[in-house]
Amino acid sequence: MFSRRLLLGSATALAALSLSAPNLTQADEPTRVVATFSILGDMVQRIGGEHIALTTLVGPNGDAHVYQPSPADARAVSEAQVLIENGLEFEGWLGRLVEASDFSGVRVMATDGVEPIAFDDGHDDHGEDKHDDHDDHGHDDHAEDKHDDHGHEGGHGHGAHAFEWAGLFELEAGTYTWSFAKVGGDYADPAMKMVILSADDIEAVEETAEDLLEADASETKTHGDALAAKEAAYALTFDAAKEVTTFTVTIADAGKFAFFTEHMPFEFEANEHFFKDASGADVEPIAQEPDVDHGDHGHGGHHGHDHGAFDPHAWQSLENAVIYVDNVTEALAKADPANAASFYENRAAYVAEIEALQADVVAMVAEIPENKRTVVTSHDAFGYFADSYGLTFAAPQGLSTESEASAKDVAELIKQIRKESISAVFVETITDNRLLEQIANETGAAIGGTLYSDALSDADGPAPTYLDMMRHNATTISTALGS
Ligand SMILES: [Zn+2]
Repeated sequence: MFSRRLLLGSATALAALSLSAPNLTQADEPTRVVATFSILGDMVQRIGGEHIALTTLVGPNGDAHVYQPSPADARAVSEAQVLIENGLEFEGWLGRLVEASDFSGVRVMATDGVEPIAFDDGHDDHGEDKHDDHDDHGHDDHAEDKHDDHGHEGGHGHGAHAFEWAGLFELEAGTYTWSFAKVGGDYADPAMKMVILSADDIEAVEETAEDLLEADASETKTHGDALAAKEAAYALTFDAAKEVTTFTVTIADAGKFAFFTEHMPFEFEANEHFFKDASGADVEPIAQEPDVDHGDHGHGGHHGHDHGAFDPHAWQSLENAVIYVDNVTEALAKADPANAASFYENRAAYVAEIEALQADVVAMVAEIPENKRTVVTSHDAFGYFADSYGLTFAAPQGLSTESEASAKDVAELIKQIRKESISAVFVETITDNRLLEQIANETGAAIGGTLYSDALSDADGPAPTYLDMMRHNATTISTALGS
C-alpha cells in the first residue's frame, strides 16, 4: 500500500537536487503561480509559502469538471510564471484558456509519475444517452486538442469546429450592441467570423451556421457597423487601436436568435458583458453550446470529453499526494532557485504530516468490518481512495460530474445496496445529491454524511485544507460504516 521506500527514495533525490540548486540572491517579487482547483491550490500554497503569489481558478466547493473560466482567470494565466494543473484530463477547459491567454510560463502536471487507474469501461456506459448526438457533430471542444487537431477520426460530414460557441437569445425588436474586447492586451484574432440566425434552438441551425462559417463568402464589418439575423457570415474586423470593438445588432422582429462565434466568450469578454440591449443592460443567452449549466448535471452534454482514459481523482490517495507535492516542489524550485531551500523545507514538513495522516486513515478503515466496506457516493471520485485503503466505492454517476446516471445504472445500484445490506450512502458537495437521496429513500440506507471529492470547503467548513479533507472523509466513512 503505502510505499515508504518510494517516499524515502524521492526525498533523497530531492535533497540532492536541493543541494545542487544555485544559491542566488533573494528574489524581490513572489513567483506568480496559478493552480487550477482548490485542493491543488492548498498543496501549492503549503510548498510555496510567502515566496509565491497564488491564484486558484476553481475555488472551494467549485466543480472543476464543468468550470467556465472567467476573463479574470485568463488574465491570471497570462501573467503566471508557473501553471499547475492536475492533468489526466480533469480540467477539460484548461487547454483553451491557456491558448487564449498568451501564457508563456511553465506548465506543470501535478499527477506526473502517478500510476493512474485505468478508466473502467463498465462505467462509461453512462454516456449511452442523449449526448451521443452532440458527440457525433464533433463540435465539442476537446481541451487537450490543439486548434487544428480536433478529432476528425469520426469522419463527421461537416468540418468540425467551424464555431466554438453558440448562444440562443430571446430578443425583442430593437437595437443591441455586441462587443469584442482585448483580453490580456490582444484580441483573440485580428478578425473573427460570426453568424446570426433566427432559430428556435441552436441544433436546428447549427449545420447551416457551419456551412456559412466555412464558406469563402463573408461580409466584412468594422467597429460601429450594423449586423442582422440573416443567412450570411460576418467577418468582424477588430480595431487594434481600441480596447473594445463594438457592433450594432438590429433585430427587426421579436423572436429567438442563435449567434455562432469562432471563439469562446471568455476570449472576447473583458470587463463588460459582450451583449447588451439599447439601455445598456446585459442580455444573457437562454441556451448555449457548449452548455455550462452547472446546476443541472447531465445536460451538460459533451460526455466523454471530460474524462480521458484514466480516473483523474488521483489526489484521493495520500500516497499520490506525495507525488503531487514533489512535482510542485521541483517546479517552484526551478522557477525560483533562490528560494529552493525553503520549498524543500516546506515539503519535508508537509510530507511528514501526509505520512502521519496516512497511518491514521489506515487505522480508521481497519475498524470497519470487512463486509461493510462498500461506500456509495454520487460520482466516481474515490477510486484511488478505494485502492489505497481497501474499500469499494459505487456511484450512480460516472467519473465526471458531467455524465449522467442511466436508469439501468441506478436500478443496479439499488439492487446492490439491498443485496449487500449497505447501511449508508454519502453525499458530495460538488454534485446534485437528489438522485442519491432518492436511492437512500428507496433502499432504507441512511445518509452517512458529506464527502469532499473534488473541492475543499470554505475556511469555516470541515475541509478547508487537503489534509482536513482527507481526514474528514475517512472519519465520516468509518463512523457511518464502522458501527
Ligand atoms: Zn470528480
